[in-house]
Amino acid sequence: MKIDLEARSQEKYGRPLAELDDSAICAMLEDIVREHAATMPLNEGKRRLYYLSAEFLIGRLLTNNLIELGVYDDVKAQLASAGHDLGAVEAREVEPSLGNGGLGRLAACFLDSIATLGLPGDGVGLNYHYGLFHQRFVDLQQAAEPDGWLDRQDWLVRDEKAYTVEFGGFSVKSRLYDIDVLGYVRTTKNRLRLFDLESVDDSLVPVNSIDFDKGELAKNLTLFLYPDDSDDAGRLLRVYQEYFMVSNAAQLILDEAMERGSNLHDLPDYAVVQINDTHPSMVIPELVRLLVDVHGFEFDEAVSVVRRMVAYTNHTILAEALEKWPLESLKTVAPRIAEIVIKLDELERAENGSDDAVAIVRDGVVHMAHMAIHYGFSINGVAALHTKILEDTELHPFYELYPEKFSNKTNGITFRRWIMDANPALSGVLDDVLGTDWRTSCDLSGLLAFKDDDAVLARLDNAKTQAKASMREFLWETQGVRIPEDAIIDVQVKRIHEYKRQQMLALYIIWKYLDIKNGNIPARPLTIIFGGKAAPAYTIAQDIIHLILLLSRWIAADPVVSPYLQVVMIENYNVSAAERVIPAADISEQISLASKEASGTSNMKFMLNGAVTLCTLDGANVEIADLVGDENIYTFGTSSKEVERLYAEHAYDAHAHYLRPGVKLLVDFITNPAFLALGNAERLHRLHDDMAWKDWFMALLDIEEYIQKKEQVLADYENRDAWRKKSLVNIAKAGAFSSDRTIRQYNEDIWHL
Ligand SMILES: *Cc1c(COP(=O)(O)O)cnc(C)c1O
Repeated sequence: MKIDLEARSQEKYGRPLAELDDSAICAMLEDIVREHAATMPLNEGKRRLYYLSAEFLIGRLLTNNLIELGVYDDVKAQLASAGHDLGAVEAREVEPSLGNGGLGRLAACFLDSIATLGLPGDGVGLNYHYGLFHQRFVDLQQAAEPDGWLDRQDWLVRDEKAYTVEFGGFSVKSRLYDIDVLGYVRTTKNRLRLFDLESVDDSLVPVNSIDFDKGELAKNLTLFLYPDDSDDAGRLLRVYQEYFMVSNAAQLILDEAMERGSNLHDLPDYAVVQINDTHPSMVIPELVRLLVDVHGFEFDEAVSVVRRMVAYTNHTILAEALEKWPLESLKTVAPRIAEIVIKLDELERAENGSDDAVAIVRDGVVHMAHMAIHYGFSINGVAALHTKILEDTELHPFYELYPEKFSNKTNGITFRRWIMDANPALSGVLDDVLGTDWRTSCDLSGLLAFKDDDAVLARLDNAKTQAKASMREFLWETQGVRIPEDAIIDVQVKRIHEYKRQQMLALYIIWKYLDIKNGNIPARPLTIIFGGKAAPAYTIAQDIIHLILLLSRWIAADPVVSPYLQVVMIENYNVSAAERVIPAADISEQISLASKEASGTSNMKFMLNGAVTLCTLDGANVEIADLVGDENIYTFGTSSKEVERLYAEHAYDAHAHYLRPGVKLLVDFITNPAFLALGNAERLHRLHDDMAWKDWFMALLDIEEYIQKKEQVLADYENRDAWRKKSLVNIAKAGAFSSDRTIRQYNEDIWHL
C-alpha cells in the first residue's frame, strides 16, 4: 500500500500537511486505513469461526493498523518531514470502551492472531455506547463516569444485516456495526461484529453518572458493559443483554452459513462457535430454537447439530463468577429459551442418568457453564494449572463424564501490540540482533546466544531506559506525577480484586514505609505503580483503591520517605496506559492467591518486555517459571494444593495470622489516627476488619514471605549485570506466549478451519 500524506492533506483539508494539527492528522490517517481496509477481501474458507464474547478490549487501533499494513515507518517518516510527531497524533485517538480486563483483552489478541494466521474467523459482541465506565479519582476514591467513546471514534462501519430479537412481551430490532480486523502484513481481513439496538437511547445516561433507568429495556440494552448487578433489575438486565447478543449472533451465523451454501443440516461444516466464558452460553438454546422454530428441524436433530459446533472456554474457578440465572428470569426474558433449556436439562439427565451435581437446572437455577459443557464438544482451561484444577476438582464430575472434551489452551498475547506497538525501542534492538523474522515467527530464543554479550545486554538496558522515559512522560502528562529517573519500577496493573491481592502489596508498602522511617535507607528509589478499575458494587475493592490512594498521598508528603518510596495509582487504567507502563517495568507483580488466577496475561506482556516476575505459582506463572528457570524468576507463597486444602477443611484462621506481631503492626496501620483523619474512616475500618477477621484470599498467609522475597528482588537488582541477564532470558523465552501459538492450538484441536 502506498500513502502520500501531502497529497491526501491537500485533498481532504485543502492545506499542506505541515499546517495540520494532530487531531486533523489522526482523522486523516484513520480515513486512509479504514478506506484501504474496506477494499480488502475477507478470509475465506468453508468453515468459519465465530468468537462470541461479551467483551473485546481492543485498545486504540491506528498505530496497530499501520503496523499491520506494514506502513508505520513510512507514515512516521512522512509526518516527521512535515514537522509532526506520530506519537502525538496517536494520542488523539480515543480508546474504544468495549471491554473490562484480561478476558476482553484476550479476545482482542485472539482476533489479531486469527487474522494474522489468515484464518476465517470473526469476533461477535455488543456495541456498548458507554463501555464499562471511565474511572476518576475524587477524594481518594474511585468515581465511575460514563465513557462516551462512540461519537469520537472513526472505525465502526455500518453493516446491512439487522435482526429482530423477541423477548417475552416485546421485541427489538438490532443494528450491526463492523470493525475491520487486519492481520500482520496480510491482504485479507476479518471483522469484529458489534450488535447494537436500533432503538437505543443515549439520553438515558446522566452526564456524570452511570446510574440509568434499568427498566427501559428497549432503549438501554447496549448502553453499558456489565451494568451493576447488585439488584434484581440489574441482574435481569444482564440476562436481557446476553440474550440480545446471542440471538443476533445465532441469526448471523445461520444467515452466513446459508449464504455460503449450507442446508443447515450440515451447519457444523460451515460454522464453529467459541463461547468466551459463560456470558454467551445462551447461544446454545438459541441455535436450537432457530433450527426448530424457524427452520423446521426436529428437536433431536437440532441438538445434534448444535452439539457439533459449539466450544466453551472457562476463565475462572471463582464460584461467584460462574453465572447462574434463576429460571424465572429466563422465563421473563425469553420464555421459549427457558422451555428449551428445560428440555436440554431433561435430555442430559436421561442420557447420563446423572445427578444434581452436574445438572443444568437445579432448584430453579440455570447453570450456564453446565449447559456449555454438556452441549459443547470442547471445554478448555486457559493455563496448565487452571485446566488441571478444572479436571481434578472444580469440574471433576464433568471430567469423569467427558474426559475427551477437556483440553488446555494456555493464553497468549499478540506481539504486534505488546512489543512492536508498545515498545519500539526493544523491537528495534531485536531487529538488529535477530533480524526481523521474529516479527512473524514470534521466536525470540536466538537471544539466548547473547546472554554473555555485553554489547547486547547494554542495548537491551538502553531500550528499558527509553521505555522508562516514555512512561515518565506519560505519567507526567496524564497523572501529573514525576517519577525519579533512576527508580526501580515495580508494577501491579490489573482489575482490582481481592484474589489478585493488591491489598498484599499495600501491606508491603506499609512495611517499607516503616522500615525507611526506622532508618533503613534503600540503595535507590522504588516506584510502585498500580492501575485498575473496581466493579462499582464491589465494596472491598473500592476500599483497597482508597487505601492505595491514601498511601500514595501520605508517602508523597513525607520528606524522609518520599525520596525513596513512591506510590502511583494510574487513573482509568486501560490498554493505552498498559502500553506505556508495561514496557518500563523492572518488576512484574503477579501475586494472586495460588489457584485463583486462571492464567493472567499481563504476566506474559511484562515478561516479553524484559521485566522479572515476582509471583505465586498460579495460572501461567507456573509455565513462566518452568521456562525461565529458578534464577530468572522470584516465586513465593502457599501452593495451590495447600490453598485448596485450607478451603476444603475451613482451616484458614485469618485472625491467628493477624495476631502475629509483624503482621498486626501492618494491618493496624490501615486505621492509624492520621489515616482516619485524612481518609474515609468507614472504608478504612471495613478493610482493616475484613483483613483481620476474614481475609478470604489469604493475604496474611503469604505476607511475610512476600516481604522477604521482595527485599531479595530489590537487593538483586543492584547486581546490574546479573539482572540484565535475567531480563534477557525472560524476553528470549516469551515466544511461548505468543497468541499466534495459542490460536494455532485452538485451530488444530478445536476449530479445524
Ligand atoms: C492485559 C490486560 C489485562 C489483564 O491483566 P491480568 O494481570 O492478566 O489480569 C487487564 N487490563 C488491560 C488493559 C490489559 O492490557
